[in-house]
Amino acid sequence: MIISQVDIYTIDVPFGQPLKVTIGTMYGAENVAVKITTDSGLVGWGEASPCAYIVGDTQQTNYQTGQQLAQLMIGKDPLAIEARMTEINGYIVREASIRSAFDMALYDIAAKAANMPLYQFLGGERREIRTDLTIGMQATVEQTVEAAKVILGNGFDAIKMKVGRPGLEDVAHVKAVRELAGPDVHIKVDSNQGWDFPTAVANINAMAPLNLQYSEQPLAVWDFDNLARLRDKVNLPICADESVFDDKDALKLIKLGAADYLNIKLGKSGGIHTGLKINAIAEAAGCKCMIGCFAESRLALSAAAHFAMARPNVYFLDLDSAYEFVTDPVIGGMTYDEKIGGLIHLTDAPGHGAAFDEDALKNRVTFN
Ligand SMILES: [Mg+2]
Repeated sequence: MIISQVDIYTIDVPFGQPLKVTIGTMYGAENVAVKITTDSGLVGWGEASPCAYIVGDTQQTNYQTGQQLAQLMIGKDPLAIEARMTEINGYIVREASIRSAFDMALYDIAAKAANMPLYQFLGGERREIRTDLTIGMQATVEQTVEAAKVILGNGFDAIKMKVGRPGLEDVAHVKAVRELAGPDVHIKVDSNQGWDFPTAVANINAMAPLNLQYSEQPLAVWDFDNLARLRDKVNLPICADESVFDDKDALKLIKLGAADYLNIKLGKSGGIHTGLKINAIAEAAGCKCMIGCFAESRLALSAAAHFAMARPNVYFLDLDSAYEFVTDPVIGGMTYDEKIGGLIHLTDAPGHGAAFDEDALKNRVTFN
């Protein structure tokens, strides 16, 4: 089997409401779709959701880089994923989002060739997977509480709160949500690098009675040493997100004792191939992983959900980006349960099970 054609498209879908975090605001998906076709007729789909202020790429750069990677793939064996990802990861550093789109399209083809759903192709079996839902940075505590009411009303059992306000301003927001939610709902806080060391210590100590799951990326992306100091200093698990892109970052963080949990995002790791390595390093160190997202549609979220289902060490799920899409460009793939908030359903269709509705895509460029 060889890769006979690669199509690259752009795809834009607005969110119902913008998501504000300390370092930027997401208004919706400005993504890139990759369709890989083989001479045997098998087709694999992938999606990039670039994020300039975290990953350092944009829809424009992903669209351009995708065209170069497409030319690299023509005529090659799609099942030799190790070789293909070595070429892709060796061709360009950064641009992780578009590398992940090629990666998930290759895994889609390989699982389809094996006639298996992707989680099974990865050696996994069915297990329940359930995502949290995120509350962005709201201006007032009242607005935070209103957002939490909607989430709880939709039956979610886990809330992720974006924090990172100056001083101790975040505490009142988190306290109000804990009081509303009661003791049993899981709450985690994600500062997106918004605190410095003393502010992080003060906030985490002040939030100690609120029974949180963990503090995600409290400090700047580069500040591994203070992350290790913080972990020694406070009584709450620390989860690294922006500080861990790939397996090398994972190893470094674990050696430094800088994180209890690692947040894998396919758009940071460059896909499943490196995501599996991060999870293996974490598991060997007794460190659970979470899987997160940027502004992916249900297509890239399907690949992420299969990855999570296949690896129980991926313990926390934050795969909520498509929950508020105003239109749904995806056929098949993962779905959110309509009653049990956050419960994710996967079918046993071969591959990751999702394809794009090509009428929803734009700016197609074809290589063959
Ligand atoms: Mg995060």
